[in-house]
Amino acid sequence: MMRVGLAMLQGARHEHEEAILSIARDLNHDVEVIQLRKGEDVDSTIQGLILPGGESTTMRIASRSEGLLDAIYNWMNEHPNRPVLGTCAGAILLAMPSNDRTPYINVNISRNAWGRQRQSFEADIEVEMERLETSGVSIQRTPDAFGHTPLVVGDVDGQEGEDAFPGVFIRAPRFESDGLECEVIARLGDEIVGVRDGSKCAVTFHPELTNDRRFHAWLLNEIAALSPTD
Ligand code: GLN
Repeated sequence: MMRVGLAMLQGARHEHEEAILSIARDLNHDVEVIQLRKGEDVDSTIQGLILPGGESTTMRIASRSEGLLDAIYNWMNEHPNRPVLGTCAGAILLAMPSNDRTPYINVNISRNAWGRQRQSFEADIEVEMERLETSGVSIQRTPDAFGHTPLVVGDVDGQEGEDAFPGVFIRAPRFESDGLECEVIARLGDEIVGVRDGSKCAVTFHPELTNDRRFHAWLLNEIAALSPTD
């Protein structure tokens, strides 16, 4: 049983949970999603983690009372090989952790650099990540415990055989190419929109709002490749 932690701070958390569980079914991995709300929810049994989007300043403030972000950063320090997927504000939290912490991904990132909320957009992007045979499967939109059905936009029906990834950018940050010291894994034209630094993957778009599960599959495959001492 794989245990995937999901920071329940803000953003499309339920969509991330749905994305992980649906790709876990397709890849035949037994996965439990652990919803992380307080510092004490983060323990060494968590093998991989998702930092969803939202508003990074709000996420930092919201996490203070329960110490969630600090616990997540401590967990990353203790288990450097365990994978983390940061989407949008989650990417900001990986690249600019806080005051005295060393960045978990070596790239500079500028917040809100595409403009205001109404400048949010969808565009096909190029992703250097293995396309999965299962990525065209239709998504299961099961209501969660609150009766909320995950919202899915973008490539809802899948486009089997096409390499383009449906990029959903919501008041997104931008990576700076100067000083970049990690692998580029997604581009929108010449623009870098996804990077990987070892076990950490940061994207400025929202893969959880599409039915292309490559990034969630990456997280599970990294967990599967961990050794018992990781
Ligand atoms: N604009 C947000 C921030 O600066 C990120 C937006 C998002 O996660 N969709 O934190």
